[in-house]
Amino acid sequence: MTYFDMNLDLTDEDRAIKEAAHKFAKEVMRPIGIEIDKMTAVEAVAPGSPIWDFLKKGYELGYHKAAFPEEVGGLGFTPLQSHIMSEELVWGSLGLTGVLLLAGWPYVKILHTGNQELIEEFVVPFCQCDDASITGSWAITEPDHGSDTLGPGEDFFYDPKLKWQCQGKLDGDEYVINGQKAAWVSCAPTATHTMLNLQLDTSMGMAGGGTCILPLNLPGIERGKPLEKVGQRDLPQGELFFDNVRIPKRWMFVGPEEWADWVTGNLGFGNSAMTLFAIGLARAAFDETLAYAKERVQGGKPLIEHYAMKIRIHRMFAQVEAIRAMSRAVWIMNSRIYPVASEYAFAGKTFCSETAREVIDEGVQIFGGNGLTKEYFIEKLWRDSRALTIEDGENYVLNRVGGNLLKDLYPRTSVNLL
Ligand SMILES: Cc1cc2nc3c(=O)[nH]c(=O)nc-3n(C[C@H](O)[C@H](O)[C@H](O)COP(=O)(O)OP(=O)(O)OC[C@H]3O[C@@H](n4cnc5c(N)ncnc54)[C@H](O)[C@@H]3O)c2cc1C
Repeated sequence: MTYFDMNLDLTDEDRAIKEAAHKFAKEVMRPIGIEIDKMTAVEAVAPGSPIWDFLKKGYELGYHKAAFPEEVGGLGFTPLQSHIMSEELVWGSLGLTGVLLLAGWPYVKILHTGNQELIEEFVVPFCQCDDASITGSWAITEPDHGSDTLGPGEDFFYDPKLKWQCQGKLDGDEYVINGQKAAWVSCAPTATHTMLNLQLDTSMGMAGGGTCILPLNLPGIERGKPLEKVGQRDLPQGELFFDNVRIPKRWMFVGPEEWADWVTGNLGFGNSAMTLFAIGLARAAFDETLAYAKERVQGGKPLIEHYAMKIRIHRMFAQVEAIRAMSRAVWIMNSRIYPVASEYAFAGKTFCSETAREVIDEGVQIFGGNGLTKEYFIEKLWRDSRALTIEDGENYVLNRVGGNLLKDLYPRTSVNLL
């Protein structure tokens, strides 16, 4: 379907980015996403899996570094351009877009610190890499701590009785890391690096955290078996285990003093990006459903010719447009201000993901029995959409963290960086 953009100010460059990303999504990502969806989790990350071919092609086109500034070797896309690109890529495959965006996640966060030494050491090589030999991930969740890690503002967050399962101790000029992360770490089976959240000060409870950059080939690191799950099977997950892993002190770029604020801001930036997943997936479902409604004949004419169906399809259309408007606004604003307005990110993620799930569910309903079969792509979209309200912070938990911000933060004093 040719898509009309309500933004009448798109430049020729914006449109070219959209067209190129759509072509890549349609010709490369969607077929590979469908292929991986049918594999076991182990096969999906094994040598020879099409995931590697996809990563190479994505890197060759520079999609992994699209939003990085030109000064560090990125493509310098504007926030609007990176939004347009991401919507198209997710339209092709949410899981594979996740692989590509997570590849750059640790490096974006290092860039935000402004630490020149770390930028030279990690961000510049990532941006120079065009063969997918440097890829990132973000390890937060632990077997015993999911939402616990997202509790700034709650009493339990500062309770020293709550201990993380992943601990770091300073030993001279090095940190020594022990413990484990849950099977939910996206790209743990494939990434070369992770951005690791861990506990540094046990006296501060969950608030005594820190964050470091960690190459995953260091001695003492082991990866668990890839996780079998119901949707987003083209976004691999797995555990990480740490046994006396040593890193230089400078790689720990966030410490306990600033950790509670940092985790809220980082979660805010992450959830601004999560809105991109919701819009791409909802639009894919809308396109599939509209095409099906034009083709499927019941009562002697295509479904779309029936009065009730016109209402349902138009309602889906309105929801997709509402998600895009909110997602773009949140993403563009939070790409430009510091600290990010996390309350808007959480509002955006919860609203967009819940609305996307509604749209996709209605799509399946319109497909009737066919929507539940593997023959129709809407079935994959439906399974992929189920995780949207859980990943990167379960939605009720995000609403709680957002509520704490509204209680304590206003008036807000973010600075416009552009
Ligand atoms: C597809 C996918 C990708 C993911 N990728 C990553 C990744 O890259 N890295 C990573 O580290 N993690 C990742 N995760 C993990 C994700 O961040 C967690 O699943 C999420 O934070 C929720 O944690 P949990 O699953 O442990 O649920 P829990 O925290 O156990 O929550 C279960 C339920 O209890 C409720 N609840 C929790 N705490 C409270 C409370 N204090 N009061 C009242 N109710 C409460 C929640 O609202 C929820 O409904 C991913 C998850 C998915 C599904």
